[in-house]
Amino acid sequence: MLKMLDVKETVILQEAHRLYGLLRYVSKNKAQKWTYEDCLQMAPYTLSIQQFKKEQNAVILAHSYTTPDLVYGVADYSGDSFQLAQKAQQSSADIIVFAGVWFMAETAKIINPSKKVLIPAGKAGCSLADSMTGEEVKKLRAQHPGVPVLCYINSSADVKANCDVCVTSGNVFDIAQKMPGKELIFVPDMLMAKNIEAELLRRNTPKKIIASGGSCCVHDKYRTEHVKNLRAQYPGIKVVAHPECDIEVCKLCDYVGSTSGMMKYVSASTEKQFGMLTEFGLVNRLEAQFPEKKFVWPFGICSYMKKNNLLNTLQALIEPREDQQVQVDESVAKAAKKSIDKMFELAK
Ligand code: SF4
Repeated sequence: MLKMLDVKETVILQEAHRLYGLLRYVSKNKAQKWTYEDCLQMAPYTLSIQQFKKEQNAVILAHSYTTPDLVYGVADYSGDSFQLAQKAQQSSADIIVFAGVWFMAETAKIINPSKKVLIPAGKAGCSLADSMTGEEVKKLRAQHPGVPVLCYINSSADVKANCDVCVTSGNVFDIAQKMPGKELIFVPDMLMAKNIEAELLRRNTPKKIIASGGSCCVHDKYRTEHVKNLRAQYPGIKVVAHPECDIEVCKLCDYVGSTSGMMKYVSASTEKQFGMLTEFGLVNRLEAQFPEKKFVWPFGICSYMKKNNLLNTLQALIEPREDQQVQVDESVAKAAKKSIDKMFELAK
């Protein structure tokens, strides 16, 4: 049984009030927004987590695709993989609690080998990261000698260790453009590979992209019909997608970019309606930040990300299970770090 703090009723009410102020415009599901009652139930957990976090000098990083109770209740920082990798690198905390999936927590550990890195959800996978091994990268490299190898950050430490540069959806186009030669190996997202090829052609710096066969099980479900239906149902709507979507879908959208890119796009736009072809968590972040705008979301939930919750976050802080403690083999971590450091260098 987990130890909760003995907090006064008034403190719980104050915390519920704070949470409701942040979550009142945020969808809990397709039919409901978060309610004050939800916030009242959440408050003892968020208060306990905040207290244990302080006592242990821990920092909580929550990916935007986790749930709003984590993002707004306890996270010190939330964002996409690149933003959180940067925060992990800059952190002076003794413990990093990474609410996300395994490859992200692994990345935080690679960057901070001396720190304790915990992941509430335990070994939460990712359809992309799980689609390829380091051995398979080696084979691809052997088939295409001399061709630079880029790996998406959504990959295992083992894959990163066998690549030249790691990239995120926010910097992939710029880094791909900087690579020498006319060919590039990009793993493990075959749909993003097509988007890179198209973007480099658009920039007049064409390259042939050699890809592997992975995809994100959330973003690869969007089809051109979804864009057409949104436009038919909501005249004037701006449709936004992630580059993990199929290229034919992306071609029909008004903006294609990373989660932070999508947030910037919405923020800068004077439009009032946006069709979001991405994960529900990002829609929630936009609803919280821009309550005056309307976000239409057809579907798309990452079940891996949603394995993180307040209870297992508290568990990780108090008595982490073995599968919540992130370890990376030293030689793999050393090689993987080179590809991550190269990304930080080239993304400047
Ligand atoms: S949204 Fe897609 S890429 Fe991101 S963690 Fe989930 S399965 Fe992996």
